[in-house]
Amino acid sequence: GALDIQTEVVVLGAGPGGYTAAFRAADLGKKVVLIEKHSNLGGVCLNVGCIPSKALLHSAAIINEAAEIEHMGISFGKPKIDLDKMRAGKDKVVSKLTQGLAALAKQRKVEVVNGWGQFEGPNKITVDTPEGKVTVSFENAIIACGSRPVAIPGFPNDDPRLINSTGALALEDIPKKMLVVGGGIIGLEMGTVYATLGSQIDVVELQSSLIPGCDTDLVRPLQKRLKDQFNAIMLDTKVTEIKAQKGGLKVTFEGKNAPDKSVVYDKVLVAVGRVPNGKLVGADLAGVNVDERGFIQVDQHMRTNVPNIFAIGDVVGNPMLAHKATHEAKVAAEVIAGHHALFDPLTIPSVAYTNPEVAWMGLTETEAKEKGIAYEKAAFPWAASGRALGIGREEGLTKLLFDPETKRILGAGIVGVNAGELIGETVLALEMGADAEDIGLTIHPHPTLNETICFAAEMAEGSITDLM
Ligand code: FAD
Repeated sequence: GALDIQTEVVVLGAGPGGYTAAFRAADLGKKVVLIEKHSNLGGVCLNVGCIPSKALLHSAAIINEAAEIEHMGISFGKPKIDLDKMRAGKDKVVSKLTQGLAALAKQRKVEVVNGWGQFEGPNKITVDTPEGKVTVSFENAIIACGSRPVAIPGFPNDDPRLINSTGALALEDIPKKMLVVGGGIIGLEMGTVYATLGSQIDVVELQSSLIPGCDTDLVRPLQKRLKDQFNAIMLDTKVTEIKAQKGGLKVTFEGKNAPDKSVVYDKVLVAVGRVPNGKLVGADLAGVNVDERGFIQVDQHMRTNVPNIFAIGDVVGNPMLAHKATHEAKVAAEVIAGHHALFDPLTIPSVAYTNPEVAWMGLTETEAKEKGIAYEKAAFPWAASGRALGIGREEGLTKLLFDPETKRILGAGIVGVNAGELIGETVLALEMGADAEDIGLTIHPHPTLNETICFAAEMAEGSITDLM
C-alpha cells in the first residue's frame, strides 16, 4: 500500500547513535529510513540531556565566576535572573541543533518517519504515525532506542513536584528547597544549576562518595566546593519514603547522615540512573535477545544475535554516553555497508560538567587497586600552575597513571575547570600508546591548564621533583 516503505537500512531512534548511523549509512550509499517518536531529531542528548544541561551550566559558571572575582577588585552584585529568557535561550540552542539535524537528514535523503516503531519480524517494523500505521520493510536494522530515567517504585511519581532530569531541564521555576536523590553526574550537574539560581539544595547518595566509581582524590575538590554551595550532602544515606503533602514533598531518610526528622521540600529531583529501552521495541518479535534489564547484547561489529539487526548507544550497555553512541553508530553503518569496522576503543572518557569539572579515562586508581594492576602515579597539583592561580582555581589536580615497566600511559584523571576539555589529550595519548617521555617532551603552550598534563608526565619521568 501507499504506507509501505521498503528500505535497505532502517534506524530505530534518532538520538546521537541513531542519527549518526543513519547519516553514515546514507553517506555510504544506502537507502535509509530513520524512525523517531519525537518531531525533533537528536534524542535525549540534544533535547533533554547533554546540550541543554551544558547550556544551563554555562550560565551557572558565569554567575559563580563573577561572584569569585572580588579578590581582584571586581564586584558585580547579585545577578538578576529572568527565568523565561533563560529557558528560551536554552531552547534556542537545542532547536538550532535539532533543526540542523533535520536539514542534514534531508540533504542526505534520509527519510524520517515520525512515530513509535515496533518490530514485527526480522525484516519488518511498523510505525504508529499521526497519519496512521506505516510499515517499513528493511534489509538491515539498527536499534538506537536509547534509555530513560529510572523511576523509584513507591515514590509519588505522578506528583509534578517529583521530577527527573527532563523536568529539571524544563526550568519551570526555582524551587526554594530541592532535594537531589542521587549524587552521580546528572544529579550534581542539575544541583549545581539550581543552587546557582538560588535554590537550597540537599543531595542524598546511597554510596559513601559522590560520583561513585570515580577516584576519591578527584572528587574531593568538587565535594569541597559543593559543600559551600549546597545546603547538605548526605552520603551513605537513602530515602525511605516520600509523602506528597499540600505544602511540599515530605522526605524520610535512613542511614549514616540522615537527618533526625523528615524534611519537606518544594521539589525532589530523582537522578538515580537510567534504564535501557530494549524491552519497548518488540525486539523479541524479530528474534533479538534482550536481557532482563532491557539491554541488547552486541558483538564488536555492533551486531545482535540476529545477523541483519544491529544495536548501538545506551541500549547496548554502559557507559551511557553520547560519544560512545556516535562511535558505535559509525561502526554499525560501516559494517552494513560491507566495510571492515570494529568498535574497539581502549577507553571511553567520562566527564562531570560540575564546578569544578571532573574527567577521567582509561585505568582509574580505584580499578587498579581492585584488580591488583601495577601502576605508577604522577599527580600535578594545580596550586603549582601559574595559569590555575591566575584564574583563581588552584584546587585542581592532574593525575596520570603509567605502566611501571614501559612508562606507557594507562589512565588519567583531572579535576578542575575545563577538565572535560583537557582529558582529550590523554585519551589520544592512550590510543597512540604514548609514554611519559612522549607527553613530557611534547611542547605544551605556556601558561595553560593543558600544561599540567605535560608537568605530570615530567614528574613520572623524574625530570620534575620536589614540586611543592
Ligand atoms: P537516545 O539519545 O536515548 O535517543 C533514543 C531516541 O530513540 C529517542 O529520541 C527516542 O524517542 C527514540 N525512540 C526510542 N524507541 C523508539 C521507538 N520504538 N520508536 C521511535 N522512536 C524511538 N552523555 C554525554 O556523553 N555527555 C553529557 O554531557 C551527557 N549529559 C547528559 C545529561 C542528562 C540530563 C541526561 C539525561 C543524559 C546525558 N548524557 C550525556 C547521556 C546521553 O544523553 C545519552 O548517552 C545519549 O543520548 C544516548 O544516545 P542514544 O542514541 O543511545 O539514545
